[in-house]
Amino acid sequence: MELKNKRVLVVGLGKSGISAALFLREQGARVTVSDTRSAVALAAEIPALLEAGIMVESGGHGLLTFRRSDLIVVSPGVPMDTPEVRQVVSFGLPVIGELELASRFLKGQVVAVTGSNGKTTTTTLVGEIFKAAGLPTLVGGNIGLPVIDLVPQSTPETWSILEVSSFQLETVEEFHPKIAVVLNITPDHLDRHGSFENYAAAKTRITAQQDAFDFLVLNGEDKATQMLGGKTKAQVFWFSGRRPIKQGAFVHGESALFVPREGGKAEPILPVSEIPLKGAHNVENVLAAVCAARLAGIPAEVIRGAVRSFKAVEHRLEFVREVDGVEYFNDSKATNVDATMKAVASFDGGIHLILGGKDKDSDYTQMAELLRERVKVVYMIGSAAEKIERELRGVVKMKSAGTMQTAVQDAAAAAVAGDVVLLAPACSSFDQFENYEHRGRVFRELVQALQVQKK
Ligand code: ADP
Repeated sequence: MELKNKRVLVVGLGKSGISAALFLREQGARVTVSDTRSAVALAAEIPALLEAGIMVESGGHGLLTFRRSDLIVVSPGVPMDTPEVRQVVSFGLPVIGELELASRFLKGQVVAVTGSNGKTTTTTLVGEIFKAAGLPTLVGGNIGLPVIDLVPQSTPETWSILEVSSFQLETVEEFHPKIAVVLNITPDHLDRHGSFENYAAAKTRITAQQDAFDFLVLNGEDKATQMLGGKTKAQVFWFSGRRPIKQGAFVHGESALFVPREGGKAEPILPVSEIPLKGAHNVENVLAAVCAARLAGIPAEVIRGAVRSFKAVEHRLEFVREVDGVEYFNDSKATNVDATMKAVASFDGGIHLILGGKDKDSDYTQMAELLRERVKVVYMIGSAAEKIERELRGVVKMKSAGTMQTAVQDAAAAAVAGDVVLLAPACSSFDQFENYEHRGRVFRELVQALQVQKK
């Protein structure tokens, strides 16, 4: 891809947008960036861009800026149905995302992990396993470094382990992972993708360029990902926490096993009891990682060692503290109904569940049966509280808490030894917090400040 002297527009000045703009400039392109935020809001970013010889448009998008470009790079935070973007697409101007741009320059092989939930956990674990195997490994994408920042470090021997979101996949064309992992496809971000079908379609793009020498790892228990099996040219491997499968990874008795080919012998990888993460969903994440690692030729002993020493990623069912026999868990990253259900299912009962935040057009009634079974009280916070109450009325005892502080205090007052207080809010955080990390930190601090009553 020749960029020298090309007029390139980068839309959206997030982390990956800034990295993309600087990369494009280094390649000799004439770069403009455009963001709807004001110059004041972008005061921290603008000087370095100007210094690098990049033009900056702030406070809105100028249609002319868009029309004058040879290439438009859209950040994952910018919806493809933004009017200016829609217009240039209709003119036939090339519009790509940062992932696509990066993948045209990235050297070596790619493991790409996508799914509605579990991406960060699985990507991090795959990265740890590859590093433990001594392979030259880079980890990035939706976590840590944007993919474009991995480009300068990549060599033909590199394995880039990438977390990719549905927003990033929406704009890929030539993106071609050697190993693609789709963990699950459950409703999320419907506020932005419009429908479940659009959302699922974005995920299928992960395998669009794969051929018979590539691998697609799919969840054998998830209907929407199963459909991908019939839509790929890659060799399909499955994982299942529930039943034996013909090719891929599964749990049998106490062990996680891997079958390298249909009719082949099952290889023992590790006892399930050695997985240090809570919940059946994390067993699935480990099985997916086992597939990716074995397909890259990494021996079972190395995988076992890396899994054993793996720690839960912050804000993902993270154990915070025990106070008076009550355990507190921070799953602030449970920003959709499925993740919350997985978190609740990780405990047998006695749960005090903090739910709420900013609604994402979610259907909370799906949780009814599980909550009835395992949850003692739901504490509602944030702007979704009313809708949650309406949809779950009569299912479980509910308390309107409003803020995180009240929720933690109320839960601590009601919980008895053996209970669990779980923040797994099923909503995004933007009504009351900067992001889910901020929400998780506030929860953790409140829990750390609780006084021990019984000595
Ligand atoms: P992502 O990067 O896809 O958001 P994370 O690893 O950050 O995934 O986890 C997001 C949320 O989903 C957390 O609440 C976590 O506990 C939960 N989770 C992790 N793995 C899975 C899975 N395989 N299925 C459902 N929920 C999961």
